[in-house]
Amino acid sequence: MSSHLMGVYNRAPLAVDHGKGPRLYATDGTVYLDCVSGISTNALGHAHPRLVQAVKDQAEKLWHVSNIFQIPGQEELADRLCADSFADAVFFTNSGSEAVECALKTARKYHHANGQPERIEIYGFDGSFHGRTYGAINAAGNPNYVEGFGPRLPGYSQLTFGDHDAIKAAIARPDTAAIILEPVQGEGGARSVPEVCLRGLRELCDEHGVLIIFDEVQCGMGRTGKLWAHEWAGMAPDIMAIAKALGGGFPVGACLASDKAAKGMTVGVHGSTFGGNPLAMAVGLAAYDEITKPETLENVREIAGYLKQQLAGLQERFPDVIEDVRGKGLLIGVKLKPNNREFMGWARDENQLLVAGGGDNCVRMLPPLNFTREDAADVIERFERTCEFARGKM
Ligand code: PMP
Repeated sequence: MSSHLMGVYNRAPLAVDHGKGPRLYATDGTVYLDCVSGISTNALGHAHPRLVQAVKDQAEKLWHVSNIFQIPGQEELADRLCADSFADAVFFTNSGSEAVECALKTARKYHHANGQPERIEIYGFDGSFHGRTYGAINAAGNPNYVEGFGPRLPGYSQLTFGDHDAIKAAIARPDTAAIILEPVQGEGGARSVPEVCLRGLRELCDEHGVLIIFDEVQCGMGRTGKLWAHEWAGMAPDIMAIAKALGGGFPVGACLASDKAAKGMTVGVHGSTFGGNPLAMAVGLAAYDEITKPETLENVREIAGYLKQQLAGLQERFPDVIEDVRGKGLLIGVKLKPNNREFMGWARDENQLLVAGGGDNCVRMLPPLNFTREDAADVIERFERTCEFARGKM
């Protein structure tokens, strides 16, 4: 492995040559069942024929012109996103972190444009992850991400789920601009915020003129079995960051906002050179079309139900290995007793790829949304063998 890459990643000893559907083919010929999906990005599996065709067709036409020209693909994808959500306005980005940055700026500008420039405080929650840029690390609740990058930016504070008094007091403060949270935490270990809490936050924020930003970068775009994770709670945010599956594995992100919340986002306030480029939009439109098909979302619910049930069965049989099974849809977390990184290595020996999640020793399964029942059964068999192996090691 080259010594010229910054050492910020804990990389598995596995070089991938190519992928097809839910399978990855390593350079040494080993075939892996992929429950990582590029950390939830390759939502339709690897090398989906429609997405490949979309990239090829667009690559021959036009890659990039910048946002000083009209880009028809952007307009079409924005129209579709708004037709299927609470949103009226979209800004396209290249990543989840950039979508979060746009969301934070949109919230701040909203109050500024409303003549309330003193509303600067944005509250994040414990266990959350919003990306690695400065705004995103300051907005997230996990102190690990800001360690060494202090002092914390002014205007960012953290709240703890369950500390209702502190949450109510924070939202009622006259200088509060917004709260930001993931309806289902991804990196935090596949943890759902109770639907009743999301509705409660909506009421409180409405009462005090505070905006709600949802980060659905990981849990959005069908991952939970509905297009948006917040749909399960029967409420909506004012602003939402999405990415990952939006490009089906190609770098695409977006910040969505209601007309009201987007009020301050006027000419010159924000921008991106690459965001929403024609190539990204072509593949984004194809991915969006596939993901929003009712049968795709139905499949997520069905396969998720099967995996959860089977994993609960394994938990009963291996209480010494599995502590908890959680998550929503195909954002599944399994909290383990043995070390999660060691467990992922043992799973790899069964040719199964998992991803770590959360500070509490969990592994995540994020299979593609079009995962089949046969592949799901295969996952369970491999997971079972890994549990047996783990038991022998303990
Ligand atoms: N928000 C959430 C919820 C995420 O899961 C991630 C990526 N794991 C991000 C933001 C950041 O996205 P990106 O790495 O594309 O910047």
